[in-house]
Amino acid sequence: MTLPDYAIEARGLVKTYPATKTTSEMQALKGIDLVIPRGSIFGLLGPNGAGKSTFINILAGLCKKTSGTVSIWGRDIDERPRDARAAIGVVPQEIAADPFFTPRESLEVQAGMYGVPASERRTMELLNALGLGDKANAYVRQLSGGMKRRLMVAKAMTHNPPVLILDEPTAGVDVELRKQLWAYVVELNRRGVTIVLTTHYLEEAQELCDQIAIVNRGQVVACEPTGTLLARMDIRNVVVTPEEPVTVAPTLPGFETKLRAAGAFAVSYRTGQSSVEQVLAAVRGAGLHIKDIATEDPDLEDVFVSLTSAPAPIDA
Ligand code: ADP
Repeated sequence: MTLPDYAIEARGLVKTYPATKTTSEMQALKGIDLVIPRGSIFGLLGPNGAGKSTFINILAGLCKKTSGTVSIWGRDIDERPRDARAAIGVVPQEIAADPFFTPRESLEVQAGMYGVPASERRTMELLNALGLGDKANAYVRQLSGGMKRRLMVAKAMTHNPPVLILDEPTAGVDVELRKQLWAYVVELNRRGVTIVLTTHYLEEAQELCDQIAIVNRGQVVACEPTGTLLARMDIRNVVVTPEEPVTVAPTLPGFETKLRAAGAFAVSYRTGQSSVEQVLAAVRGAGLHIKDIATEDPDLEDVFVSLTSAPAPIDA
């Protein structure tokens, strides 16, 4: 069997939600072209309302596209809907665990729904991998929020799909659990599973994803390897510690400034337009004496802001 080049391929994907009595027509996806390479950890990033869930719901068969084509693992969702759906596991945003099933039963039922024969089920393997082995026979209502979330990941993997989609997986999840979840996701990826992750936590995408697409208002505004995306953006920060700590970031003509801890401030500049020399000259020009300086690479927040002309607020 030849493997597809792309885990997911969307061409000219449009979704228009029809008008209702209280809302006007809404074009949530305005012609999305997106290819997700096989084997990647791919980040789908964007503010609330960008269209991420709509895109994922179309992949999962929960929402009907208006036009365009989508293939999952080389299977067109119109021509081979069942095969396409079998190729993905989706971990939804909301925890929807059945309180009356044990984790073991929950996975067995899920596997049954996908028609996985008993001999091919990996119930205990999945539970162990997600640190739920000793909870296999507990009632789901006895599990903590974090355990329930891990159970959702296990459920999405029962039919062994080559593509796993995690929709805002760490919203409201504590740091420790987040690390555990990522360790398992990275392990799955090492074993060949393509991971698609939607998030508006920029740091998360930056740390985990090898490719990132930024979506805003139903359009892809950037789609590149994470490193390229960062390198393309020539924003740099210089953090200046003045001899006399400041309580307000100084105003420097031509530069953005932000107050930092301990009386320091950051000055951002674009390498294509100015230099550290010019930043320092501007600081001195404002009558400040420099005690120390440090340079910083940009984070995705800077990248995002400069790529989207009118970004909606990011509530990360
Ligand atoms: P995201 O997941 O990036 O936050 P969504 O895909 O949920 O974005 O939403 C994209 C746009 O489509 C938003 O403006 C949202 O209000 C609208 N939308 C989402 N679902 C529906 C729906 N069922 N009916 C009408 N409009 C919707």
